Amino acid sequence: MNYLIRNIKLAPEGHSRINWVKGYMPLLNKLEEEFQRDKPFKGKRIAVSVHLEAKTGYLALVLAKGGAEVAITGSNPLSTQDPIAAALAEEGLSVYAWHNATDEEYLDHLNKTLDFGPNIIIDDGGDLVHLLHTTRADLAKDVMGGCEETTTGVLRLRAREREGLLDFPMIAVNDAYCKYLFDNRYGTGQSVWDGIMRTTNLIVSGKNVVVAGYGWCGKGVANKAKGLGANVIVTEIDPIKAIEAVMDGFRVMSMDEAASIGDIFVTVTGCNKVIREEHFEKMKDGVLLANAGHFDIEVYKPDLERLAIDKKIMRTNIEGYIMEDGRILNLLAEGRLVNLASGDGHPAEIMDMSFALQALSAKYMVDRHSQMGNKVYRVPEAIDRRVANMKLKAMGINIDILTREQEDYLRGWEG
Ligand code: NAD
Ligand code: SAH
Repeated sequence: MNYLIRNIKLAPEGHSRINWVKGYMPLLNKLEEEFQRDKPFKGKRIAVSVHLEAKTGYLALVLAKGGAEVAITGSNPLSTQDPIAAALAEEGLSVYAWHNATDEEYLDHLNKTLDFGPNIIIDDGGDLVHLLHTTRADLAKDVMGGCEETTTGVLRLRAREREGLLDFPMIAVNDAYCKYLFDNRYGTGQSVWDGIMRTTNLIVSGKNVVVAGYGWCGKGVANKAKGLGANVIVTEIDPIKAIEAVMDGFRVMSMDEAASIGDIFVTVTGCNKVIREEHFEKMKDGVLLANAGHFDIEVYKPDLERLAIDKKIMRTNIEGYIMEDGRILNLLAEGRLVNLASGDGHPAEIMDMSFALQALSAKYMVDRHSQMGNKVYRVPEAIDRRVANMKLKAMGINIDILTREQEDYLRGWEG
């Protein structure tokens, strides 16, 4: 038995969730067909640590169809869905994950996922790669390379690369156009509000929403809030991004100023202590605090804990921190990624593009790893463009093709 999951009897529900998303992931459908035919991963062991929900479940099955032996865990204990873990276990994958695992259990699951000695790593946030460079460094020699899903994971990889401490090549899937332009912007934009709305059952329209960070995720979160009818305020530390937010029609100010105005706060910075003691002190009674950045340190919980005289569960996934003066500050999903810990994450059509990039990048790594150094690579342009073309085709959209004359004109210097 190659699994450590909550309950195998949940498999039927897991299968139906996976089947539902499969109907909306035409790019992975196509790759599934191709991989089944060509078996690009035959004899290869792939370790996956990505939010373990339906879309990831489907990616894992596609890799297995391509001949890989797959071991999988979740990249965040709160986003793991037990029915998906059960369905994958029933399909014969090695699965080590359950919802709400403690820190020790989470680490144990990561370690078990590595035990079979992977050749390819698919990571989200860098936890598998970190272990392969520390306590499980003995396994690194069998690793051809891997792919990283998210912004913060890529930052961690680049820091390793800079110090000459990366022991195998990694592809920064996050940095592909077909990833961050759509996943970070539209995926986070929609799923953050989906998570907040289903958790609180409150209206967004007419509220003052403060979005911290106007990067790719922040742009999505702010723009969707505007579409929902909120008054949106953006906070930034980068002067250029701040002007961009102003030109996009948002009010920009410091968190110090925004703290007393906001009704809903969403952090998406990848930074730490973005909302902290001096901000909590100024907030209105009943505010909602949510994080959608990588770690649960953007809304700085230790400060909340210290300031609160008591806390209580207000509703599933909402903890009310009661301040000395009676104000209640509501923290959603323990300050972890609100869209994944309190929802199903990005929609299927978005993850279809991100995971098509993952699948094709993993194949590229198998084919090319011997010519690659221990560096962080961009997704090859040909893969990025292939995914874009596949997506357009799936949407039934044609675009123009340059004529020979236009190509010559664009290449030339004459007017
Ligand atoms: P990005 O680099 O494009 O944007 C981050 C922005 O935050 C930058 O503009 C930066 O100037 C700003 N910033 C940094 N520190 C700040 C601070 N203290 N106050 C205000 N602004 C600050 O990155 P991104 O792709 O938007 O990703 C942001 C975070 O979200 C990362 O941690 C990433 O891993 C995570 N992420 C989450 C999801 C999700 O599903 N929730 C999806 C993709 C990425
Ligand atoms: N691993 C970290 C943070 C990464 S979250 C953590 O769990 O705390 C950000 C990544 O989650 C994004 O890059 C996005 O591609 C991925 N993601 C969003 N929705 C998802 C979904 N429905 N299934 C799998 N991954 C998803």
